[in-house]
Amino acid sequence: PDVETAMALAADQLGRGEFAQSVVDAGEDGHIEAHDLHDAGEHHVLQRRAMARLSDAALSLSKKMLPDVDGKSSLITRLGARTVVGATVRALQLLGRQFVLGQTIEEAIKRGDGDKAHAMKAGGLTQVCMSYDMLGEGARTEEDAQRYMASYQHAIAAMGKHANAQAPVRANDGISIKLSALHPRYEDVNSERVMAELLPRVWTLCEQAAAANVSLTMDAEEVDRLEVSLRIFDAVVARIATDLPHWSGFGLAMQAYQTRALELVQHVIAVARQHKVKLMCRLVKGAYWDTEIKRAQELGLPCYPVFTHKHHTDIHYLACAQAMLAGADVLYSQFATHNAGTIAALLHMAGEQRSHFELQRLHGMGEGVYRELGKSGANVALRVYAPVGKHRDLLAYLVRRLLENGANSSFVHQLADESVGMDKLLSSPLHITRAAALPLPSEIYGPGRTNSVGVDFAEAARRQPYLDALAGCRVNVLPEATAADLVQAMVRSQAAFAVWRDTPVAQRAGALNRVADLMTQRMVPLCALVVKEAHKTWPDAVAEVREAVDFLRYYANEAQRVMVEHTLPMPVSSSAATSSWPHALGITGETNTFRLGAKGAWVAISPWNFPLAIFTGQVCAALVTGNTVLAKPAEQTPAIAQAAVDLFHEAGVPKDALQLLHGAGETVGAGLVGLPGVAGVVFTGSTAAARAIANNLASKAGPIVPLIAETGGLNAMVVDSSALPEQVSDAVVQSAFRSAGQRCSATRILCVHEAVADTVIDMIRGATQQLRVGNPAALATDVGPLIDAEAAANIGAQIERLKARAKPLFTADMGPQAMPNSVAPQAYEIASLDDVKEEIFAPVLQVVRWSGSPTALMQQINALGYGLTLGIHSRIDSRAQAMAAMARVGNVYINRNTIGAVVGLQPFGGEGLSGTGPKAGGPHYLPRFCNEYTLTTNTAAAGGNVALFV
Ligand code: FAD
Repeated sequence: PDVETAMALAADQLGRGEFAQSVVDAGEDGHIEAHDLHDAGEHHVLQRRAMARLSDAALSLSKKMLPDVDGKSSLITRLGARTVVGATVRALQLLGRQFVLGQTIEEAIKRGDGDKAHAMKAGGLTQVCMSYDMLGEGARTEEDAQRYMASYQHAIAAMGKHANAQAPVRANDGISIKLSALHPRYEDVNSERVMAELLPRVWTLCEQAAAANVSLTMDAEEVDRLEVSLRIFDAVVARIATDLPHWSGFGLAMQAYQTRALELVQHVIAVARQHKVKLMCRLVKGAYWDTEIKRAQELGLPCYPVFTHKHHTDIHYLACAQAMLAGADVLYSQFATHNAGTIAALLHMAGEQRSHFELQRLHGMGEGVYRELGKSGANVALRVYAPVGKHRDLLAYLVRRLLENGANSSFVHQLADESVGMDKLLSSPLHITRAAALPLPSEIYGPGRTNSVGVDFAEAARRQPYLDALAGCRVNVLPEATAADLVQAMVRSQAAFAVWRDTPVAQRAGALNRVADLMTQRMVPLCALVVKEAHKTWPDAVAEVREAVDFLRYYANEAQRVMVEHTLPMPVSSSAATSSWPHALGITGETNTFRLGAKGAWVAISPWNFPLAIFTGQVCAALVTGNTVLAKPAEQTPAIAQAAVDLFHEAGVPKDALQLLHGAGETVGAGLVGLPGVAGVVFTGSTAAARAIANNLASKAGPIVPLIAETGGLNAMVVDSSALPEQVSDAVVQSAFRSAGQRCSATRILCVHEAVADTVIDMIRGATQQLRVGNPAALATDVGPLIDAEAAANIGAQIERLKARAKPLFTADMGPQAMPNSVAPQAYEIASLDDVKEEIFAPVLQVVRWSGSPTALMQQINALGYGLTLGIHSRIDSRAQAMAAMARVGNVYINRNTIGAVVGLQPFGGEGLSGTGPKAGGPHYLPRFCNEYTLTTNTAAAGGNVALFV
């Protein structure tokens, strides 16, 4: 970051740390273990320990000397702060050295030799080798992938010079590669591209590794990449059989925390036997446990793909190890663990025969355990996984390792904790411990509400039913409503009102829950219809149905909460005075009650960009509060709305309580709003249309009619110079370009700090080039077309106007599969926020560089007058929080994308030109559909007040 930000970042982070004790791998005396580049002598060990202590001291001193975050401090403090930042960076580099062997492969090999010699000198190990890993985040762009490819090739070449050409490959160092670094779209749905572009890269590295007589292991990454990684693995093994039959150095890492791991081991052995190829495969427990749990919850998967009890992972590890040892004819097993209990079980299982497997540990971890193992004369081979890279690439790896060291359940963490006794440390995983179970993804909202079920399209087997449904999907043509139809509909709606209003709220809520169940059951055809009629991509279609289901269940619960009758005054719950008050609250001799009641016939007008979710949300909110509804969907997506209405009727909502009236906004929409007797209007769409509706309502005779309007936004994303570029790139591409930019929440303006602007823009450019603009029917399509030709023409004109005041930055390629009315994702640089003139409802991003005070920037953003979504990317928490507090914006997101608000978690809606509120999917939405009633009864009317005499 720039200097000011670096100071603010250091102050923010140091403010939270306690530096008296290090969090890294603790040695015997509780201090950081020593590593020596050239000399493993006692002197150097002491020196390194002293450095570690010094870094702690520097950090805690730094903490005191830094100015307040974003502080206005004196020059002297600021000069001092710069020195402190320098010291902090140095301290962090020391921490990084704990886990990273070298900044270059040459340096790592040299230092590795020292480490090997040191370990061998201690005795008890048959050999010590390295497996080098090139640090870095996964590739976002083709340039990233090429860079990683070059660095792997360079590393193998350097290792080749060092390797013993005559020795068995297992006696030499090896390399571990991450396929996500070698291809920016290493995803199962892109397996065609992966096989065409990534497989040749992996093969090139294999050829090079075989020629150098070193091993090559494919690291195990996220669970959703397992199947695609196996396609690569199978293809490589088949090719080794024909082209490199002498090489037995290929393999992959397998994660025992995956519930599929045992089948995976069996598959790998079967493939090796089928091709008569010998492999070297690593068994790990797995490094992304927290990420897998979060992903499964976000996607609403039926179950977790990983075990949720630590001891289950430990047992599965041993079961997988047993299966691997049984495949020793084709498999050289590599057991990676720092857990002494697991190591003991492995050695016991293997017996005296120890030449067909090795143990592995990470550089910087578990040295104490392995030293003891050596001392015990285990006579086993050891390989150390040794990351190599520059400090700037360290972050993701360091975070993983610190998580691993910091997790309470982790062996190394418990080992460093003196309060954990030997019994607990080495308790057998077969000893079943009672631990609270993690709720399933469907249960994360507690017993009151079931989370909607999603689909993981990364699993090939899940995709086919959707593609089949699309092939058979028909979009029905609906007749347009006439003026007479509207009048008739209102008559029926009003006639149906009293019965529906008087239906108990629990019954109305029950109907909503039945609709939710029906939508869940018919997820597949509904998604197909959304893809076909609204041109949404498959993941967007699933998200659409899920959001509709969430609205239904959430409002069903909310209605039963808010429509309960209350006695007034309501006690102030936290007031001790009230709870100890011996008398009834309020005026004696009377009772006061409060309740909500339905208003009448509501008009609900919804947009095409969420043709099921917003349509359903509006309709069910009005219905569950006892209103009747005249629903007008967008003219582009009536069939989806009809499918939803059919489900409401099937679930027991009377036909006249919910009627669908299809047609254009100017005719049917305006006609409905203008009808006498409209009790309220709920609308989502453009600010201009909302204003027209408001004018229409204002000019009507009779009662003043309430309007709930959710409209557009000029949504900004602010990136300061401390933000992580990869995270920003992901967030921008998702928020600005996915769904073809056709979301009200989409990011329209990227405000990026000038110190990092070039890097960030380059990365976004490269990542955008990887998007596939195509037909949403294909699962690999990222960006579909705009909704219709009229929208495309309007957007075209807006882009022309933008070009007159902005500098083009990039435009993605339009794929051969792109449909008519498609707009390629594109970005333009503007000089200032004053140049943002209008919302462009398409994948068009405006980029502005900023510098100076974040407060001034926030004032400019607020001055745009819209207030829907805002993204903030900063690693300075206090700064991000301060900006969020300043923002006059309904939905603020820190360090993530700005789309996909979840019902009940991120109630959605803004202020100013972005809408009236209340927020959809939030606690104040339903009351706006209601009248409020109080009832006062004079209980002393008969002449006395008995209660007072008691
Ligand atoms: P332990 O403390 O015994 O086990 C910790 C592990 O238990 C956690 O990592 C987690 O997976 C699991 N766990 C924790 N809590 C729970 C819970 N509630 N329910 C279920 N499981 C839980 N990891 C990868 O993912 N891919 C790789 O390619 C990879 N390569 C590696 C290579 C080497 C040489 C080494 C040593 C590690 C590698 N790792 C890799 C990291 C590895 O997954 C972790 O280091 C390992 O999980 C730590 O296990 P342990 O036996 O040392 O520690």
